[in-house]
Amino acid sequence: MHEMSIALSIVDAVDAQARVEGAGRISRVELVIGRLAGIEPESLRFCFPAAATGTLAEGAELDIEEIAAVAVCGACGFRFSVTFPVAECPECRSLRISVVSGEEFVIRSITIE
Ligand SMILES: [Zn+2]
Repeated sequence: MHEMSIALSIVDAVDAQARVEGAGRISRVELVIGRLAGIEPESLRFCFPAAATGTLAEGAELDIEEIAAVAVCGACGFRFSVTFPVAECPECRSLRISVVSGEEFVIRSITIE
């Protein structure tokens, strides 16, 4: 399962970070996930508790901020939201589109105790 391996890598990263800081446990993990990152937040929420079992992140609250996908047209400069990385400009039909947000996937912060 795709999200399970992502959950495991998040747990690995935050567990290692918490150990470096000498924490007893992690109470909260904040993630930022763009709509085009190819990650289902709901599946990730489902997988996280199992992935965290036996680590410092066991029982941690998972907070996910979803970032809308926005693209800008290279021809006319129009900005618009997209659901796929490939799109055409709704204003001028140009295919010179750059995605400016929505591909993020970062661990924003962890709260340790
Ligand atoms: Zn355009």
